[in-house]
Amino acid sequence: METQKKHPRTFGFEFFPPKSAEGIERLRAARRQLAQLKPTFFSVTYGAGGSTRDRTLETVFEMQAEGLEVAPHISSVGATKAEIVALLELYRSKGVRRIVAVRGDPPSGSPSAGELRHANELVALIRAATGDWFRIVVACYPEFHPQSRTAQDDIDNFKRKIDTGADSAITQYFYNAEAYFRFVDECEARGIGVPIVPGIMPIGNFAQLARFSDACGAEIPRWLRMRMQGFSDDISSIRSYGLDVVTELCDQLLAAGAPGLHFYTMNQAGLTTTIWQRLGL
Ligand code: FAD
Repeated sequence: METQKKHPRTFGFEFFPPKSAEGIERLRAARRQLAQLKPTFFSVTYGAGGSTRDRTLETVFEMQAEGLEVAPHISSVGATKAEIVALLELYRSKGVRRIVAVRGDPPSGSPSAGELRHANELVALIRAATGDWFRIVVACYPEFHPQSRTAQDDIDNFKRKIDTGADSAITQYFYNAEAYFRFVDECEARGIGVPIVPGIMPIGNFAQLARFSDACGAEIPRWLRMRMQGFSDDISSIRSYGLDVVTELCDQLLAAGAPGLHFYTMNQAGLTTTIWQRLGL
């Protein structure tokens, strides 16, 4: 964790682009509340294959107009290089300075369509097309990406993204702080010195979280799963226990020198705000 301690902390709040008029209103209310916490930036996800292109753009530009610093996510799966460069040029023309660059997952799980196979090629394209304009943030996986052959391989592939020009990384969420500490130490030993900001998933809907975690390479520890299952559909106990667990996790990470936190807010302000306040940030 030694190199991580040297970086200034950044705090990010992630949203997804809402689908319905109601969702748009809910997100507006959530970000009004979250903006008061003064994070370093907000980010807005991008559906693989460009499925949310227009909604991502609308959300990003509306938030920019409110004076918020926004980092759009951009994904390469299913896209041509020309489409990606056009999107980058649009963001550059609007003064966006930070991009979260990921590969994305093809909807069918089949090998990716599109001209780029891996996120390191996306990072290379961003640098080739726009030089140093963007601060590039990439994804990494303390419990390793589900498609990686070995842990070592996954770290090599992460390093490729950094060597190509990424400035920092946000992790997949995790509930086991030790996985993050070990991952960061291994990255440091491999010469990766950029900030590796832990991704934090507050726990609202446990059943949904459990389904999602199986697919994305995040483990729910047995002790947490058993506790949560014991609460059945008692939402308030799930939220209250989840708040205790996630606040303690954040506390542990920051105390050990993590360079900030990135909250997967799920477009809701409540849990993130409570954790933030409990941490005294
Ligand atoms: P990569 O870095 O390309 O890695 C994918 C797999 O390929 C890994 O197993 C890796 O080890 C391997 N690999 C990488 N490079 C090579 C190489 N050169 N040769 C061989 N193997 C290689 N998804 C979205 O659709 N939209 C989003 O907005 C979005 N935002 C995200 C934000 C964060 C912080 C995180 C953690 C994930 C996000 N995702 C998003 C999910 C992400 O797209 C998936 O996890 C996807 O499966 C991998 O993306 P990646 O950028 O990590 O891919």
